[in-house]
Amino acid sequence: MRDASDMMDKMETSWDPVCCNNGTSGTCFACGDSTLAFVTSYSYRNDDTKYSNTWVRTCPNFWKFSDDDKISAGFVMYHELVHMVSTAGDGYGNYSKSAGVNLAYNEPDIARLQANNYMLYAMQNSMAPYEYAMASTSWGASVFKIGCEDVYGNCPDLIRNFGCCDSRTSQGSNYESTCCASCTVMNDQDKCAQQLQEPVCIDLYSNCGGYKSYCSNPNMKFSNGQSIAEACCQTCQ
Ligand SMILES: [Zn+2]
Repeated sequence: MRDASDMMDKMETSWDPVCCNNGTSGTCFACGDSTLAFVTSYSYRNDDTKYSNTWVRTCPNFWKFSDDDKISAGFVMYHELVHMVSTAGDGYGNYSKSAGVNLAYNEPDIARLQANNYMLYAMQNSMAPYEYAMASTSWGASVFKIGCEDVYGNCPDLIRNFGCCDSRTSQGSNYESTCCASCTVMNDQDKCAQQLQEPVCIDLYSNCGGYKSYCSNPNMKFSNGQSIAEACCQTCQ
């Protein structure tokens, strides 16, 4: 991460940008439908060493970031430089926050070599929660913990404006379940904020009642890897 950060302001001395047109051949061969930018590398037979080319190719989608979003474009450059200075790849090619969190949980060795996880980490830790949410919408709704995701793209605004103290049901409040990530980090509007510093204690599944006897068994897990005590927090309380 530090090597990539160090290179950010060394454009034209240690790396060069290429502005690509819509082509999918030649220098810009990988500027497909959703590609923002890309770098290339090579290796020799019988040699694991990765040799990076120092050209960052910026695709037409990259140039669609508005002036307001230019910090996001900068972080995309950071993503590319992470590729350039390390063996990080793109995992299974899913760049979303949700996929990153799940990959970190299920296959941490692969998640550790996914450039977008480093980029999102850098974004999340250098920006206030709301600014991070706004700057990272290209990579889906926020999620900081499996089972605690924002379902709607406008969750950051909903929570910033209204807080998470809407009327409660047995599943928590509506916002707590549909805007869980934003409620966890962004709600400073009301008296619920205090108790929402930790993800809320709710049952994620309607059949949690049937698992009550397994609450204290950490080896009993749902298919997503969560323990009964985690996924059925309310039942197990
Ligand atoms: Zn990449």
